[in-house]
Amino acid sequence: MKRGKNAVNVALAQAIAQAARQDIQGMVAKGSNSEQIAVQAQKTVDLVARKLPAPQCRQGCSFCCHQHVLITRVEAQLIARYLRALPELEQTFFGDRVGEVAQQTQGLDWRERANRKIPCPFLQAGSCSIYAVRPLQCRGVTSYDASICEREFQLADVADCQGAPASEELLHVAQGMQLALEWCLKFSDVGELTQLVHESFIQPCQTP
Ligand code: SF4
Repeated sequence: MKRGKNAVNVALAQAIAQAARQDIQGMVAKGSNSEQIAVQAQKTVDLVARKLPAPQCRQGCSFCCHQHVLITRVEAQLIARYLRALPELEQTFFGDRVGEVAQQTQGLDWRERANRKIPCPFLQAGSCSIYAVRPLQCRGVTSYDASICEREFQLADVADCQGAPASEELLHVAQGMQLALEWCLKFSDVGELTQLVHESFIQPCQTP
C-alpha cells in the first residue's frame, strides 16, 4: 500500500508468516473455518497495534484510502458477508459503489490507481464504512505524521512518495499475517480490494 521508507521487508514478513503458520494449522485441525482464521489474524494485528504509540490516524483522515490495497480472497469474503448483513438500501448502495470503482480501477497497476486518486468504495464522508472487517493491510498501515500523508497525497506521482513515519513492526505483522493466510488457506489467492470484493459480493459466499 504505502511505498518509500515504509516498503515491506519481505524476509521479515515471511518470518512472521512462518511463525503464524503453526497456529493457523492448529486452528484448521480444530475445525476453524477460513473466515474464523482471518478474523483471528485481524485480532493479532489489532493486539500489536494497541501496544504501540498511538498514530495520528483518526476518523476523517483518509489520505491513504485512495490506494491499491491487496487482500486475500478470504478477507474479501468477510467483507462480502458484512455487506450482506446491512439493510437492503445500504447493500444496494455499496454494491453499486464497488461495481463503479471496480470498473474504474480494472487493469490499473498500483501506481496508476494511486495517481488517479480514486477513493476506496468504502470511504464515505472521510470514514471507513467497513471498519470492523477492514483488510489486514488497512490495519497495518499507520502514520505518526498526518501532515506528510496529506503532502504526499497531493503529489502527482506516488513514485515520489517517501512515506510518513509509521510503525514498521505493525506493517510487518499485518503483511506476515496476510502471507500466512495466503499460504495456509483454500480460496486465499490475493488481489486488489475492490476487484475481489466485487467478485465475492456478487457470488454466493462459500466458507471452506
Ligand atoms: S477498506 Fe476502509 S480503511 Fe481500507 S482503504 Fe477502504 S476505506 Fe480505507
